Amino acid sequence: MFADPENCDYIAGASLGGEPGWIAVYSAFWDPRIYADELGHNLTLQHAASLKCRMLFIDFYQNCIYDEYGDYFDIMGNFWYVTPYIFHFNAPHKLGLNWIGPASVKEATATGTYQIYHSETSTTNTQILKVYKADTNVYYYLSYRQPLGFGAGLYYGLAQGASIHLWNNDPLYQTQFLDSTPMVGDFNCFGDATLSDGQEAVDQINGLTFTQLSHNGDFTEVQVTLADKIQPEIYITCPIYNQLVKQKKYIKVQAAATDNIGVTKVEFRRNGVVKCIVFSEPFFCNMYNAKVKGVQVTNSATAYDAAGNSTSIQTKVTTK
Ligand SMILES: [Zn+2]
Repeated sequence: MFADPENCDYIAGASLGGEPGWIAVYSAFWDPRIYADELGHNLTLQHAASLKCRMLFIDFYQNCIYDEYGDYFDIMGNFWYVTPYIFHFNAPHKLGLNWIGPASVKEATATGTYQIYHSETSTTNTQILKVYKADTNVYYYLSYRQPLGFGAGLYYGLAQGASIHLWNNDPLYQTQFLDSTPMVGDFNCFGDATLSDGQEAVDQINGLTFTQLSHNGDFTEVQVTLADKIQPEIYITCPIYNQLVKQKKYIKVQAAATDNIGVTKVEFRRNGVVKCIVFSEPFFCNMYNAKVKGVQVTNSATAYDAAGNSTSIQTKVTTK
């Protein structure tokens, strides 16, 4: 602790990852939370930041406001706003310090329902649910807080469901708290930032939706919906391109269609007019050929998946 120097615009400092670990605090500032914040830096943690994206839970970063200290509910954020409390570290910070072990972290790579146990006590259950955010190559970290221990004063609006942070698995980078109820709430809108039952947070850029189903004293249950952005593949296997076909006969147009999740239907068209809609394999459509020679038509087939992605292929045939 040092005497308060003149013309100094900061009140404390510390080494980030302490070898040696040092903390300097100026004497006018005796608040124990300063020491806790600086000790967090010695333990390698960066600040607990926030990201506000106007009306949206998340948006392109250029439409968002980053606040280095904006997660007030972690001692690495701007704790002055939550006087007189010292809250627990947020869950990604606990993971960075290995207080939440890797066994309690689960990654959601498919649509599903997940239980996230609160992070105030140790458990082998899932305490952090990670979901990849592809456009910026980071992860969403979903966690759950309850008013226990140091966190006993945790505000009601932060204990009703999943907290969502952005992070990249590296303690040396700031965690970023996101607001699932943008533009409303005290504490600079973050006093009710967690999900509540029935509420969803949507990432339109990556096709992700987090919907909270329920919460209790132990865990919150969240449905993660990952939009399918992969289109089906489709080929017309018969007739082949530019095949000559007989007049006044039916021709069987056949397609082979596949999808990462599943093909829900194939539509067959002749010259743009729908002739058949087929909902399961085999995908084919009998089409009647013209009565005269030399008529060229376009047969097309379009495969759809449940998410509405589609792929079309076309081929031409001529009567002989
Ligand atoms: Zn600090």
